[in-house]
Amino acid sequence: MKKIVILGSTGSIGTQSLEVIEEQKEKFQAYGLVGGENVKLLIEQAKKFKPTWVGIQDESKYIELKESLPKDIKVVSGDKGIDEIIADSQYEVLLAAISGIAGLKSTVKGIQAGKDIALANKETLVAGGELIMNLVKEKDVKLLPVDSEHSAIFQSMNNSKRKIKKLIITASGGPFRDYDEESLKHIKVEEALNHPNWSMGKKISIDSATLANKALEVIEAHYLFNCPYENIDVLIHKESIIHSMVEFIDTSIIAQLGFPSMKLPIQYALTHPESLNTNWPSLDLASIGTLNFSKPKDFFRALKLGIEAGKQGGSAPIIFNGANEIAVDFFIKGKITFLQIADMIDKALNNIENMKVESFEDIGYIDEFTREYLKRSF
Ligand code: NDP
Repeated sequence: MKKIVILGSTGSIGTQSLEVIEEQKEKFQAYGLVGGENVKLLIEQAKKFKPTWVGIQDESKYIELKESLPKDIKVVSGDKGIDEIIADSQYEVLLAAISGIAGLKSTVKGIQAGKDIALANKETLVAGGELIMNLVKEKDVKLLPVDSEHSAIFQSMNNSKRKIKKLIITASGGPFRDYDEESLKHIKVEEALNHPNWSMGKKISIDSATLANKALEVIEAHYLFNCPYENIDVLIHKESIIHSMVEFIDTSIIAQLGFPSMKLPIQYALTHPESLNTNWPSLDLASIGTLNFSKPKDFFRALKLGIEAGKQGGSAPIIFNGANEIAVDFFIKGKITFLQIADMIDKALNNIENMKVESFEDIGYIDEFTREYLKRSF
């Protein structure tokens, strides 16, 4: 029985992870559940899964949480309480599914505690890059991708000794993949949140619409697979059936296919290097019929800006991520238009000096500085 702590259990990845745990009761146990502020859902989850620990980031919700749960469940709140859960010696895997840069700190704590990490939170590697990979090596833990594209690459590599020529990261293209540039001027928030293939949290849904999500994934792949940016391609594939591919130096390409569902990559991160039987339907390629591919359009500027920031290195990916997070927040609140998301990112990358990143404290400082800078200038 593998014991799992889920950070972000009330989110899209968190709830799908609990579905996987429920389907595989003999194999997995939800040892700890951590939410942000959705206390109602967290209580419901805790009553159903009876974990040892339950934590909530929002300290004002502690009493309601504590009073609603049986006495034998340990209930904590805030950074200190969540750190206590992460440091517990009795579980094996930390599933990092908090959204945004807020997920970095707790992932770092998990690695420091010697836990294997099932990583959904892509911002951790985008901002923490080399520091994270060095820490993973030092602590000798596994960093297993949950992001479907990275899981696909990981599965396609399959520990092979073959030399890699290229990683090909597929992208659905989001809800506006068939739009022209002019039509992007009038996008409403609800349209951007309405992803055609995937049901996800708000932040990543907007990132999928701007293609900033693909830039985050390219940077994540660069660190996770130690692959130069020049050897990572992005390919629009609107059916989201091929989740990504690896081309080897002899031009052979291995791909991983499946329904657009996060349950497989979540489960594989928890069972690697083995697989588990499921009752999920098989992919029926004959009924799908056709798979389409194309290049991303140039006017999805966030994609180019993000990859360029990745190539620059230093603090640029942190600035890209911080600027994107604040821009998405502004867009959702109706303060800026869809196209201004890329303008904000561009402005931050052009005006904030690139510096060397030597510690996790530096990341926090650069992220905060980027947010403050943009809040002042927009
Ligand atoms: P959601 O917005 O659906 O969920 C985010 C989760 O994080 C919620 O449980 C939320 O709690 C919690 N949370 C937010 N802020 C904090 C905080 N400061 N401290 C503690 N908990 C917090 O996001 P997703 O599940 O969609 O995404 C999670 C991560 O996984 C992201 O990094 C995303 O990029 C990545 N990912 C997601 C995919 C998907 O299909 N959804 C696919 C691949 C990667 P609450 O709601 O209670 O406030």
